[in-house]
Amino acid sequence: MQAEAPWDKPERNAMSRIAYVNGRYLPHRDARVSIEDRGYQFADGCYEVVAMRSGVFIDAGLHLQRLRRSLAALSIRFPMSDAALQVVMTEVARRNAVREGYVYMQITRGVAARDFAFPAPGRPSLVMTARAKALVDMKLMATGIRVITIPDQRWARPDIKSIALLPNALGKEEAKQAGAYEAWQVDRDGNVTEGTSSNAWIVTRGGEVVTRQADHGILDGVTRQGLLRVIAAEGLRLSERPFGVAEAKAAAEALLTSSTNFILPVVRIDDTPIGEGKPGPLAKKLAAAYADYAALGGSDRS
Ligand code: PLP
Repeated sequence: MQAEAPWDKPERNAMSRIAYVNGRYLPHRDARVSIEDRGYQFADGCYEVVAMRSGVFIDAGLHLQRLRRSLAALSIRFPMSDAALQVVMTEVARRNAVREGYVYMQITRGVAARDFAFPAPGRPSLVMTARAKALVDMKLMATGIRVITIPDQRWARPDIKSIALLPNALGKEEAKQAGAYEAWQVDRDGNVTEGTSSNAWIVTRGGEVVTRQADHGILDGVTRQGLLRVIAAEGLRLSERPFGVAEAKAAAEALLTSSTNFILPVVRIDDTPIGEGKPGPLAKKLAAAYADYAALGGSDRS
């Protein structure tokens, strides 16, 4: 009999999961933060999700760089050195027996009496959890996924990986209700910005790979950055520019990227099949090439 993978038994996992909370490793049922934590009160914090495969973190360096940038933009102190943070990440993964899955970390401005203005600089709160998950879903790779398009209703700085994710949650729920996997958000100019938890890509009929430039309008995904390196190494034609919904629907292929899904082919946008309505050759090739890149830890090891 094939051994049960950890992600096949989430309920049992939930009983024994361990979280890191401000210096202590605790069972989830005992893991607590204050009701006056500014993360809880104001979503005043940032987060990162770092994938791990075969016990190796993928592009941990790029994630910590982005975390540093996000926290600096909000004037929240980085809680510890990168090296110390990586020790905690490794320990949280180990204590949760995760070898394939991800570590989630959240840093907030900390605990203070409720007031919009910042308190005197204090201790940021750091919470970390880990979860087993298959990063390559063979079924979704084979069928491809559907996305819907929705208005981008977020604030003007989605490049900061803030924990204020209500528009993202509403968009994902709308996708789920529509039987789709993801919602692509569309700005006021009619251009696709990104998914609610992934970056958006198309392949034009001329064979050019297109994704929106990483400006203030999107989160610069670490998987996006990794795939850009893979595309350069493969010698493919790439353009980082805005693309509209009509252009996406007329594309030869479409795909999305994220740390917890790697690369998934998009085969339908709203009611329009993309290309032949099945995963395209370039999406499959990029997914395979990205998996090879990730197997070596991404740019961390290159
Ligand atoms: N865009 C948004 C809005 C996200 O929330 C995420 C991931 O959660 C991504 C893009 C993909 O980023 P990454 O590849 O770093 O996981």
